[in-house]
Amino acid sequence: MDTPQKVVIVGGGLAGARTAEALREKGFAGTITLLSAEDHPPYERPPLSKDHLTGKSPFEDALVHDAAWYGEHDIVLRQGVRATAIDRVARTIALEDGSQLAYDKLVLATGSVPRALPIDGADADGVHVLRTIEDSDAIRACFGEGRRLVLIGGGWIGLEVAAAAREAGTTVTVLEGAWLPLLRVLGPEIARVFADLHRSHGVDLRTHVQVAGIETSQGRVTGVRLADGETVGADAVVIGGGGAPVTDIAEQAGIAVDNGVLVDGSLRTSDPDVFAVGDIANHQHPVLGRRVRVEHWANALNQPASAAAALLGEDALYRELPYFYSDQYDLGCEYIGNTAPESSVRVIVRGDLRSREFVAFWVDGDERIQAGMSVNVWDVIDTIKPLITDRVPVDVERLADPAVPLSDVAKTTAS
Ligand code: FAD
Repeated sequence: MDTPQKVVIVGGGLAGARTAEALREKGFAGTITLLSAEDHPPYERPPLSKDHLTGKSPFEDALVHDAAWYGEHDIVLRQGVRATAIDRVARTIALEDGSQLAYDKLVLATGSVPRALPIDGADADGVHVLRTIEDSDAIRACFGEGRRLVLIGGGWIGLEVAAAAREAGTTVTVLEGAWLPLLRVLGPEIARVFADLHRSHGVDLRTHVQVAGIETSQGRVTGVRLADGETVGADAVVIGGGGAPVTDIAEQAGIAVDNGVLVDGSLRTSDPDVFAVGDIANHQHPVLGRRVRVEHWANALNQPASAAAALLGEDALYRELPYFYSDQYDLGCEYIGNTAPESSVRVIVRGDLRSREFVAFWVDGDERIQAGMSVNVWDVIDTIKPLITDRVPVDVERLADPAVPLSDVAKTTAS
């Protein structure tokens, strides 16, 4: 393979910045251009619903690198400019300012955006989504004693916003369509822990409700109308409908897209000169043996090293298991693995659900662990990881017993 001279990275989030960093770490001496549609150097988003939202940490703490770092590493960071098209024959990228950029290799790291929900009134003043630093600042400005915030959707981000808002004394209502928040990801037993957590912190959590529309007066939100006719009064609303991968330019260029950009084990797209990393990558996972696309910080952090290696001609597979974390009030959790769609799993709990100190395991019919989540229990994720990757059948009784070390839960022929 000819050594590439010009790498263009589209998308200046964590995954884009880490790709530029990995290329330089690997000794790549050609030009690197990092295109960011946002007017900021790349930053991490988890603080936007946690410490930045509560006002505990400034924006600078969320930056992947300070602004000077890019120049110091001879990386051309172009902020506030969007790529509009890829010409794969000419190997050029068209930018919204009318200019073009040539590439030998292209990395797509365009991330995701909040999924638009078809709700009447969603464009009113006081209705927010949460993806950018500006969104986080605007939502924080709605917090305070006597203010009413309604969250539509009880997913991870919605629940973290609820926790931050309650910490600031805001009156919070969460409207969730399912019987419990996080039900699809966690199942009823563990999802109930999160429902109880929020209720115990004064959140009015309403489940199995349908939103009919957002009520407004003079263009400003006044409440959220439910399908049963009731209106929940609101000074501000945050819509949390999950994320949608930004695949427009890949799709228009004829790169294979299906729930994200399809990539192989090395994060290479259907075009061998184009790679995709982070939220948009629908990755053929070599350990799980199936495609996985998750919107997790850890993928944006770690996939770029494998993509950069593959781009430079090395044999590199991205083998890390999906991993994410969340912080809500005094509950911290980490989740590793991924339950296969359509698989039937049961939850094994090790510890005490009521005191919110436990590890939960999602175990399939062959008694193999597909995923594990620690809640207020620390430093166990590295021990859980091999239990998932090695696919060793476990003795579920030993797994549920905190007295048995996690390194000793494999099923023996006697058990
Ligand atoms: P992004 O961070 O979305 O960055 C993509 C960038 O590309 C954006 O700046 C976008 O504007 C830009 N872009 C898009 N199209 C173009 C274009 N055509 N031209 C130029 N630029 C373009 N994950 C966890 O694991 N744990 C958490 O606790 C957690 N908390 C989160 C809290 C919030 C509020 C949010 C929004 C996400 C959270 N996540 C969390 C998810 C995590 O932040 C994402 O997985 C991660 O940001 C993905 O990084 P990325 O670089 O792939 O995409």
